[in-house]
Amino acid sequence: MLEFEEALARILAAIPPIASERAVLSEAHGRVLARQVMSPVDLPLFDNSAMDGYAVRADDLAQAKPESPVRLRLCGKVAAGENFKGEIPSGSCVRLFTGSPMPSGADAVVMQEDTLVEPKDPAGIWILEAVKPWENVRLRATDIKRNARVAEAGERLTAGEISLLAATGIESVCVGRRPKVGLVATGSELKEPGQPLADAQIYESNRLGLAALVRNAGALPATLPLVADSLAATRLALEEAFNQCDVVVTSGGASVGEMDFIRRAFEQGGGDLQFWRVAIKPGRPFMFGHRRGKLFFGLPGNPVSAFVTFLLFVRPALLCWQGGTHLALPAHPATLAEPLANPSDRRHFLRVKVDEMGTIRSAGLQASHALSSLAAANGLVELPPRTTWPTGTTVQVMRWE
Ligand code: AMP
Ligand code: MG
Repeated sequence: MLEFEEALARILAAIPPIASERAVLSEAHGRVLARQVMSPVDLPLFDNSAMDGYAVRADDLAQAKPESPVRLRLCGKVAAGENFKGEIPSGSCVRLFTGSPMPSGADAVVMQEDTLVEPKDPAGIWILEAVKPWENVRLRATDIKRNARVAEAGERLTAGEISLLAATGIESVCVGRRPKVGLVATGSELKEPGQPLADAQIYESNRLGLAALVRNAGALPATLPLVADSLAATRLALEEAFNQCDVVVTSGGASVGEMDFIRRAFEQGGGDLQFWRVAIKPGRPFMFGHRRGKLFFGLPGNPVSAFVTFLLFVRPALLCWQGGTHLALPAHPATLAEPLANPSDRRHFLRVKVDEMGTIRSAGLQASHALSSLAAANGLVELPPRTTWPTGTTVQVMRWE
């Protein structure tokens, strides 16, 4: 039986080389960048006004005060998207709006609220306040300099980065290809949700939860048909799954019972099993192998075991497959509001609920079939073997949503 770190290291060592493709920005959210992105332009692209107001020469207004305003001659108007021709002479101003390019000769903007216009003198603008040079001006390249890095290789593109890249005029990015992940559920007792149940049948729940986690990891789930517990059916299902997909994830049939066919079916179909069983709770019967460059994850059937082993092993593998560099679940410290105990000799990944104050409680029944606590949980806490942590202990919580 492997320890957790050893198991994960073996999986990551088996990831095939990264393949990349181009993705238009509208399709690129959450994709892993295969190359860093440099800005082709300065941002702002040109000096422009931060306000609705008037472009001025700051020197002209040194004496302007509400009780002694200075009159400037209005010599034009520049809307956003237009340009001022020529240079503004001393003693004059140009009407501007937010985003209007600065006319040459001007070195500041007086906001509209600091001005007065007399109806009988529309060509004269009374300025009530002095301005400093470049006040209310958004100077070229103060946000982003041309050739500066705007997104990093190996990271997943965020919504904010998409806005930034679009502003630089970039249309598409080079990203890691997404693996197609075949989800296979085995078990003669399983029935599709929505169908009537016969005696002793249960609804299949692993593929849907795992499909959501696959998408969350940036990969593409393929939900494959249910598989009855026989060697022939399992072999056929794996054959089909490997034909269609880059990664195959099964659930169930991974233990030692005579109805557990996954391991045999995988090996008889030419799969190279790398390991079976990891010293964790839930999820001990987890297995991993590969077959002709494709990855195979055999998850236990118990719904919580399947979910947790996916988070611990399959998720980082899928991110790594796409070229990702941040593979671990995001984690942060939080404080126990009640003791947590792990009497077993395997490390336990407990389902917990973290509140907004950063305090943690058990999410409920920790048995590996108990979905109520999985649904209630928003984090996992890794508790070492034979350990009890008292109330008030600060621990790391791993998050996945
Ligand atoms: P197994 O690993 O096949 O021995 O399954 C362990 C337990 O998980 C059994 O109670 C199964 O009925 C249940 N189980 C297996 N696969 C699923 C599934 N896809 N959806 C819901 N329960 C399952
Ligand atoms: Mg089964």
